[in-house]
Amino acid sequence: MAPAVTVTLDVEDLRPDHDLPERVVAMTDLVLDMLADAKVRASIFVVGELAERRPRLVRRAARDGHEIGLHSWAHVPIQTQQPEDFLADIRRGRTLLQDLSGQEITGYRAPMMSLVPASSWAVPLIAEAGFTYSSSVLPGPSPLYGWPGLPRRPFRWADGPIEFPCPMVRLGPIDLPYLGGTYLRLLPVAVRRFGLRRAASDEALWAYCHPWEFDTDEAFHPHDHIGTLASRIAWLGRSRMGRQLGRILGEPVASPLTEVAAGLAGDDLPVVDPSRPPALGSVARWANGRLRQR
Ligand SMILES: [Zn+2]
Repeated sequence: MAPAVTVTLDVEDLRPDHDLPERVVAMTDLVLDMLADAKVRASIFVVGELAERRPRLVRRAARDGHEIGLHSWAHVPIQTQQPEDFLADIRRGRTLLQDLSGQEITGYRAPMMSLVPASSWAVPLIAEAGFTYSSSVLPGPSPLYGWPGLPRRPFRWADGPIEFPCPMVRLGPIDLPYLGGTYLRLLPVAVRRFGLRRAASDEALWAYCHPWEFDTDEAFHPHDHIGTLASRIAWLGRSRMGRQLGRILGEPVASPLTEVAAGLAGDDLPVVDPSRPPALGSVARWANGRLRQR
């Protein structure tokens, strides 16, 4: 039997211009309806600014039994912020989500997996703000953000939260975050099945998607922060997304990440010191350097 996978959703409003129609509410409701029909409880990470503007989304997700987590205050990459602004933002977001959901908010997810060596200063601040786990790193080379060399299984940051690294599979020379939105939309189903067969028994498997990935009617918009090519990729394959999530919901599903973290709290996890990160490979150094220049 395939290993169980936690379903996660990153709720964000990516419109480049707020004069365009707002579609995130309808698309989030669509995904929440799918989860309700399948009787699946997920981890729903919400951008604070959006939760403030559309509190009903958070209230509904909490009422449906999902875990609520924070997906930053304004969806900007961590390293574009000053540490004091980052800490103030995640504190504000956590307080807001706790008020709206009635839950203790334990999970933080960085925008675009932007917890990387250049933003490792954020790790102790995530703990200081009250989060007990993070799912914010991509443990391999990436054209956007990656942190090669990190463990592929859950680990504990020294004096910090538990980290659930994004699940990866090796296909020939490349590592792919095969359970992530873009990859779910664009890769054949066989890649996901291959990855699940290859997963180690101590990995924590989680899939992620975004409301906008289900939006087949949205016109193409370039997004400055990721560039034209990545914007185009974000727009492709949306007609497959509903079917892809439907398949995952029909397979073994694991608990929300906060419950997985609670189950691991007493375990002997690998410990990583964020101030002495594993060395970056040349590809990742080039990719991360390019991004910092943007
Ligand atoms: Zn995001």
